[in-house]
Parts: sequence; C-alpha cells; structure tokens
Amino acid sequence: MGKETYLKVIRSKLFVFIIQISILGLIIFSFDYTFPIESPYLNVITRQRRTIIQLLGNLILYDDLDGLVLIYGSWILVSFIPVLIYREPRLAFSANIKLIFFPNFFFYVFVYKYLATYFEQYFWNLFLRTLSLFAILAIVSLVIPYFYDRYRKKKESIQTLDLRKIAQKNKYKCPYCGTEFNSKPLYCYNCSRKLPIESINEDKKIKI
Ligand SMILES: [Zn+2]
Repeated sequence: MGKETYLKVIRSKLFVFIIQISILGLIIFSFDYTFPIESPYLNVITRQRRTIIQLLGNLILYDDLDGLVLIYGSWILVSFIPVLIYREPRLAFSANIKLIFFPNFFFYVFVYKYLATYFEQYFWNLFLRTLSLFAILAIVSLVIPYFYDRYRKKKESIQTLDLRKIAQKNKYKCPYCGTEFNSKPLYCYNCSRKLPIESINEDKKIKI
C-alpha cells in the first residue's frame, strides 16, 4: 500500500469514526462503567434491546461525579483524534458531531420506542447532559485549534521578523556611491570600484 493510499485511509471519515468509537468504548468498558437506567420496565423488554440501550447509555450518560469525569474525560480524549489527524477545525468538528450524534440518536430512539415511560420522565434531564457534552466537544474541536493556530501564527511572524532583521544586518552600502547590497561584494556593481576589505564595520552597515 502506497503512502498516499495509506494517508487517504487514515483521513477517511469512516476510519476516524471507527477509531474514535472503538477507543471510547474500550476506555468506558475497561472502567467497568454502567449508567443506571432506573426504569421498572427495563427487565420486561427483550435482552437484546436491553443490552443495546444499556451499552449506548454507558457511552454517553452519567449520574454521579465519577461517571461525569469518566464520560467527559474519555470523550474529550477521543475528540482530539480528528483534531490531530485533520488539523482543520471544521473537519474535526464535523467528525466529532458524527461521533456524538450516532450513539445519542440511537439511545434516544430505542428508549423512546421501548421504555416510553422512562423517556417521558427523564428525557430533558438526560438531554441536558447530552447538550453539555456536545458543548465540550465543540470547544475541543473549534476553540482550542483556533487559539493554537493564533499562537502558532504569532510565533511564525516573530520568526519572520527575526529573519528580516538578520537580512537587514547583513546589508552593505558602497562608501563611494551609496548603492546598497544584500551582502558585501568585492566590487561595487554600480560604480565598479573595489570595495575596502576591512570596511565590514558597523558604521558602514545600515542601521535598522
Ligand atoms: Zn559604488
């Protein structure tokens, strides 16, 4: 596989999504985390549906401080992946939107369909947490790269300024006709006179 193809795969949206969701799942799973769904009907629905609802809920919801730290921490971590891969805030943001959209969408759809009373009772309560998680991802994908970019540009412009200063320092002026050179030649290109060798002293150089 050529380097181009390799990079194309890494940057592909599906690949980024799979990597993000896998890492997210691994972290949450490795902490043995379970979001408590308090519905008396949870045990009535089929086992598959219960498992899907529970797994999706574990990915996106929390109800105490430990859960909050784990959920926010792992989401913030994985939301940096597209930021680093794309180095382009809008692409990173759209990748993170997709990442947060799918598990939430299916969680709410399943709960709405199979745990209607729980949905009615808790929807806004849960949805506020979804919104806050969304806000945090927006900060990671848009605000942090914005400030990083500004910092980098500032640093670059300082470096360019330094280079210009060095170039200015090396400028040389012919003592006879006043022509300026970017470095000291043996003969003046303008008046063709031999330039004094020892004259690379400060007073002949142009002050900046
Ligand atoms: Zn000259």
